Amino acid sequence: MRALVFEEFGGPLTVRSVPEPAPGPDGVVVQVGASGICRSDWHGWSGHDPDVVLPHVPGHELAGTVAAVGDRVRNWSVGDRVTVPFVCACGHCPPCREGAGQVCLNQTQPGFTHWGSLAELVALDAADVNLVALPDGMPLATAAALGCRFATAYRAVTGVGRVAPGEWVAVHGCGGVGLSAVQVAVAAGARVVAVDVSPGALELAAACGAEHLVDGTAGDVPAAVAELTGGGAHVSLDALGAAVTCVDSIRSLRRRGRHVQVGLLPPAVGRPEVPMELVLAGELAVLGSHGMAAADYPAMLSLIEAGRLRPELLVTRRLGLDDAGAALAAVGREPGIAVVTSF
Ligand SMILES: [Zn+2]
Ligand SMILES: [Zn+2]
Repeated sequence: MRALVFEEFGGPLTVRSVPEPAPGPDGVVVQVGASGICRSDWHGWSGHDPDVVLPHVPGHELAGTVAAVGDRVRNWSVGDRVTVPFVCACGHCPPCREGAGQVCLNQTQPGFTHWGSLAELVALDAADVNLVALPDGMPLATAAALGCRFATAYRAVTGVGRVAPGEWVAVHGCGGVGLSAVQVAVAAGARVVAVDVSPGALELAAACGAEHLVDGTAGDVPAAVAELTGGGAHVSLDALGAAVTCVDSIRSLRRRGRHVQVGLLPPAVGRPEVPMELVLAGELAVLGSHGMAAADYPAMLSLIEAGRLRPELLVTRRLGLDDAGAALAAVGREPGIAVVTSF
């Protein structure tokens, strides 16, 4: 099969022929119909993820059709249209038993712990735990955006941030996950302040329903958020994953506000100096959010089917696999989400 491969961290990303995967006894192989390109792929390629073993095939935001099924899989057959969370859970460890598969102790992640979906075929583990059936009529390119960024933002805003109608939400970083968070927060009835350094990203944030836009290059971001929101946001998200956006997010909160860390922040990009004096004095909550388990997808999918959430608005570029390497190396330079739709 054709796949995008890198042999060294930060090295050339080339499309070449590699052996086809076979399904494990509990797994499936999916024929990839669409695969998004995400900042996490860039982290993996850059050598920031200790799970990645060379040579490697990136890609974790996928949708496609089941092509082969392991012996022990009960719920899925060849031809089913599916997506998966980027964290594939085992289904039996303590967090999984509590319904928190997104922090599974034995998790696998396509494109990180094994070869991913920037390829014609991808193997997925524990299919009965992790596969999500796509509604009829949902295009694969739209569904590919759900597997990581949209689902991650949905859970960060609703499940972890517990955003309530009328609250102010600040979103720091308006890439794929940030734009998704803007949309989800607006749908939840919140008022949104979007922060980014790119005018194109801020334009998309406005189209997703942000009420105020803050240029991240122009001065004191937390002070700007405090002024626009009458004292600070109730909920603030670092949707980029950088020391500066993390600290700005915490400083943007009003008393008893909730910071949600949703952008990956590996130590290689620098650890933030969290202002714990503000956390204590303001009784701030500092929360982490890591994807979303497959069992939590139906509520989000029904909002999408009802037209209240529109992930397709975030897909700004469709590429062939041959252009995926250049797009991966340049993640963040163009607004919106790039999705590979031909392999
Ligand atoms: Zn587990
Ligand atoms: Zn991702």
